[in-house]
Amino acid sequence: MQGFDVSELVPRGFSVESTAKDDTRLVIAIRSTAVLCRCPTCGGASKRVHSKYRRQLADLPAAGIRIALILRARRFFCDATNCARRIFTERFEAVEPRARRTSRLDDVVHCLAIALGGRPAASLSRRLNVDVSNDTLLRIVRRRGPRPFPAPAIIGIDDWAWRRNHRYGTLICDLERHKTIALLPDREPATAQAWLALQSQICAVARDRGGGYAVAAQRALPHAIQVADRWHLMENASSAFLDAVRKSMRQVRAAMGARVIDPTLLTFAEKLQYDGYLRREETNAAILSLSEQGIAIKEVVRRTGYSRGLIRKILRGQRSDVFRVRKSSLEPYLPWLDEQWDAGRRNGAALWRELKERGFRGCLGVVSEWSARRKRAEKADPAALARAPSARTVARLLTIGRERLSKAETLTVAAVESSVAVLVEARDTIQEFQGIIRRKALDELDAWIGKARNSLVASFANGVSKDKAAVAAAIALSWSNGQTEGQICKLKLVKRQMYGRGNLDLLQARVIGLA
Ligand SMILES: [Zn+2]
Repeated sequence: MQGFDVSELVPRGFSVESTAKDDTRLVIAIRSTAVLCRCPTCGGASKRVHSKYRRQLADLPAAGIRIALILRARRFFCDATNCARRIFTERFEAVEPRARRTSRLDDVVHCLAIALGGRPAASLSRRLNVDVSNDTLLRIVRRRGPRPFPAPAIIGIDDWAWRRNHRYGTLICDLERHKTIALLPDREPATAQAWLALQSQICAVARDRGGGYAVAAQRALPHAIQVADRWHLMENASSAFLDAVRKSMRQVRAAMGARVIDPTLLTFAEKLQYDGYLRREETNAAILSLSEQGIAIKEVVRRTGYSRGLIRKILRGQRSDVFRVRKSSLEPYLPWLDEQWDAGRRNGAALWRELKERGFRGCLGVVSEWSARRKRAEKADPAALARAPSARTVARLLTIGRERLSKAETLTVAAVESSVAVLVEARDTIQEFQGIIRRKALDELDAWIGKARNSLVASFANGVSKDKAAVAAAIALSWSNGQTEGQICKLKLVKRQMYGRGNLDLLQARVIGLA
């Protein structure tokens, strides 16, 4: 055992001159042990002291006691003949110029801010007897900037929501190192282009199909290969099939003999929608009959007063679903909700609370309405329940494996398959496309595009054809944004911990992380 010397408490390079203690802190007067100091302008050493002054610095607390350092610092003359500076202040390794905290305290505070975010870090700091406000934490993070990253060669780029439907940013991921390397404040092509242009070594960019990032990458990195993101391709293919099902719901319902709807089984909101549906059906019938008489669209527009776009939709059979296929805020959560429901968790309020934790922003009513409908549908006598399943359900039933279907579901699938041939064709076309991606069967792509252009998923096929080089690269190369999706999930998690008060600097520092 050795005795304890108070100079062991202070950063290296300083010696203790005196100590004093008051109720809340230990005050230690220190000075540098260095004899000379180098001029920050010319680098020449000087021993000639001009004057002395005091600086007060906060340091790491010791045994829970706050420590204030009173540093007696010096000013030196610079005697170098060709240096513009005459006098300079003493520089230290352990303290930045003009800092009010030692560097080692700054390090700890920086770590806290990145690990916890501004406010939680500020309150933990108070518990640790370190006085820093939320603003100070943010300032430290901003001053230190994001961690420098090695120049990437292959990147993924995608957007992420600051606030859903309100404000978006861009996330850039190094696909070889599996790391987020930058967050951009918006998703404007010009912003992405400016960032990409500084990284001319990048040779491949994985991005969503088409859109602004394709343009940005083309302009900033004309030599780089663009890769349509495989994850989005699979997603888009699935949603193209869902659209095809929506377009065919009239036939699907006819196939299932479910044209009649029992209004007693509807919720209030559904009744309103159902009334609207009956009105729409009247309009549809009137417009269809006009068209069957050979009257031109222009004339139908004039006679009915409906817009040209709407009339075209009706003539294409895209406006017949009872429950309008407007996107519900609940939509992304439906698969999860279904799972919970099947597992016997049926309390609407409890489900809503969990959904909120998963990022759902809608109100309780949306979820209770959904659960009320599910309950009612289950209570009803299946024979009386003359309602076709939703387009989403039909799409799911048609695409999951037979062995996973219940008996009733098998009957539904059989009914649809035997009488809605175009839908079966669309499903096979989409599955073929997903197969091409999975098997990396690039040589089959052209034939697939040719065939798919004559099916219900023609618009998806046209999109693929327009972006063919990038789709081909997605099939041939192994890089995909699937990873970028994963990074976006991580980002969402961090963002949620920050209670929506995310400041980009802090968010970036936290996502990109410490060493
Ligand atoms: Zn100098």
